[in-house]
Amino acid sequence: MPKHIVSGLKYLATIELKKKGLTQQKIAEELEIDRSTVSHYLNGRNLSWNSIDVAKTMTQLCPKDFLILTNVLIKNAKKTQKIISTCQSKEFKADVLDSCIGCGLCVDLCLMEAVSIKSLKANISPIKCCGCLICQEGCPTNSIKILEVNNDREYQRS
Ligand code: SF4
Ligand code: SF4
Repeated sequence: MPKHIVSGLKYLATIELKKKGLTQQKIAEELEIDRSTVSHYLNGRNLSWNSIDVAKTMTQLCPKDFLILTNVLIKNAKKTQKIISTCQSKEFKADVLDSCIGCGLCVDLCLMEAVSIKSLKANISPIKCCGCLICQEGCPTNSIKILEVNNDREYQRS
C-alpha cells in the first residue's frame, strides 16, 4: 500500500506541474519517473483512485504531518522535497529574531533544506519552507516565527 500512496502523490504532483505548463518530459525529469508514466497519469490510465484519495487527504493534513508522512513513505529527502513543494498550496515566510545564536540546530532539523546560516544567524528560504514548524519548535532560543503569507499572522499548528 505505501508504494501505491507514493504513486498517488506523484499523480497529484504531475497534475500540479501540468497546470504550471511543464511538458510531459519536463514533468518526468522533475519527478524522476518515466515519461510514459506521466502520460498514463495525465490520461487517467493505470491509476488506483483509492490511493489518489489517500494522497489528497495527506495534502490536507497540517504541513508538519504531510511532510513527515511523505518523508516516511518516500524515504528520499530530495523526492520528498519535490512532492511537498509541488503539492503544498500555502506559502510561508519566516522571521528570525536577533536572539538567534547561530547554533545551526534548525539547519539540521529542516527536512526541506530551507535553512542556512548567514553571518552567524539563521536564514530561511521562503521558496523552500513548507511551514512545518519543526525549526520553530526546536529552536533553543525561540528565535523563529513562521508566518503564513496572505494571512500575515503567526502560524501555529492546529
Ligand atoms: S536553532 Fe534557533 S538559535 Fe539556533 S541557529 Fe536556528 S534560529 Fe538560531
Ligand atoms: S518551518 Fe522550518 S523546518 Fe519547516 S520547512 Fe520551514 S524552515 Fe524548514
